[in-house]
Amino acid sequence: MAVSQKTVGNSIYLNVDLLNDQPMKEEETVRVRFAPSPTGPLHIGGVRTALYNYLFARKYRGTMILRIEDTDRNRFVPGAEEYIIESLKWCGIQLDEGVEEGGPAGPYRQSERRDIYREHVMKLVETGWAYYAFDTPEELEDKRQEAAAAGKDIFQYDIHTRMDMCNSLTLEKKEVDRRLQSGDSFVIRFKMPENEEIRFSDLIRGEIRVLSDTLDDKVLFKSDGMPTYHLANVVDDHLMYISHVIRGEEWLPSLPLHVMLYRAFGWNPPRFAHLPLLLKPTGKGKLSKRDGDKMGFPVFPLEWKGPNGETAPGYRESGYYPEAFVNMLALLGWNPGGEKELLSMDEMIGRFSLERVGKAGARFDPGKARWFNHQYLIRKDPETLAREFRPLLDEKGVQTRFDRLVRIVVMVKDRVDFVHELWRETWFFFLPPQEYDEKMVKKRWKPETPGILTRLGESLAKTEPFRAAELEATVKNFLEMEHLGMGQVMNPLRLALVGAMAGPGLFELCEILGRGEVMKRIERACRTIST
Ligand code: GLU
Repeated sequence: MAVSQKTVGNSIYLNVDLLNDQPMKEEETVRVRFAPSPTGPLHIGGVRTALYNYLFARKYRGTMILRIEDTDRNRFVPGAEEYIIESLKWCGIQLDEGVEEGGPAGPYRQSERRDIYREHVMKLVETGWAYYAFDTPEELEDKRQEAAAAGKDIFQYDIHTRMDMCNSLTLEKKEVDRRLQSGDSFVIRFKMPENEEIRFSDLIRGEIRVLSDTLDDKVLFKSDGMPTYHLANVVDDHLMYISHVIRGEEWLPSLPLHVMLYRAFGWNPPRFAHLPLLLKPTGKGKLSKRDGDKMGFPVFPLEWKGPNGETAPGYRESGYYPEAFVNMLALLGWNPGGEKELLSMDEMIGRFSLERVGKAGARFDPGKARWFNHQYLIRKDPETLAREFRPLLDEKGVQTRFDRLVRIVVMVKDRVDFVHELWRETWFFFLPPQEYDEKMVKKRWKPETPGILTRLGESLAKTEPFRAAELEATVKNFLEMEHLGMGQVMNPLRLALVGAMAGPGLFELCEILGRGEVMKRIERACRTIST
């Protein structure tokens, strides 16, 4: 820390440098943490924060820590911690230390570290960096009203107002002791120093300067024995030897207070990197659950079933591969350089750097998310896809040979983004059409069609072997003999087999359906379709 002086207007500011922007030294060990609060399902922005921490940790052979920040009991949601852990596992983000793994810097759940925070906040009270405040909620509300009446935006408990309030700076020591002993409720506030220009740096945002006079005296600790986020977060980052704090941009406004806390404790701050926001697909602002609901995409990695019966869809249950999801997410804000977009976890680890994380918000694109899944899907070997498709076929009561299923999957996989969409593209391989597309019937089914198809059926039935190439030759021959055009035969045949103008190549379709089934479908169509 470096301290110097500077004059701005009439005030003399103490320049306090808390810059920690030195390049990393070889021997430095990287320790990063993902520190979610268990207040509900983990937003994909949070998953991305965890992912960047993980990529960074692995890149520098460091340690990845999960710390559960559960000191705000009002916002605690049962099941959220388990949800977070399961989400990280699904994404392939492996933890080295955490609530399940344990580790030398534990416990990793803040609610189990209360004594540590109490001890630390007392140090700040002793050194004059913090003070007791006894103002009641009603008194604070009065102040807010007063401020509003005076045309001020908000009432701020700070250097300018603290001496008008009820706290250990304004009360006699005896009175403070009496209140503490009689169990009056209190908070402990940070005493933000006067006339200082605080300078610090962020690996993504660069140098930041803040005048201390503009900052408020934040609450650090409450008389229920619980610290606030700021105190617990800073104390733990120090005690857990965190080298880099990588977190969402929404925490940037807290950074001046955090660096001041490091200074107050006499600790070296870690390096900071605040990640850009994930933005809505269109318009302004942060990607929210509402955007997902409106446009039909999940904003959570896994399906969430909350304690009050509320539910939200997840990427896993929507059919995304974790590799595709993680790949898509990694590129929202980080530019790996080069053309290649499909990157495995190991490739991402190899290329990751905070220098290539942008400052600007990253727009979420649901179409691109599906594109990633499609890319991963088409690269799977067909046997794997067939195995993944099997449970859905079982559900539909469809039985089919594995080698036949593999052939079918090969024919249609380019047309789907998800395994469950394979049904939409393949059902007619397993079931005869229940109805015939009316529009197409009107357009393609002529009075002479049943006669043509019946005669074609007879030729097809005689084709040996019953394979695509031979069937194609039969049809060509038939067209010549009967002086018919392609469309007069192929369209009604497709209608008879599939019920619509959809599906893959007709001859292969016939081969896979088999002689008996093709005949049956032709016969049925000629019998049921009336013109
Ligand atoms: N508990 C905070 C959160 O829920 C952690 C912020 C940080 O990483 O410092 O995001």
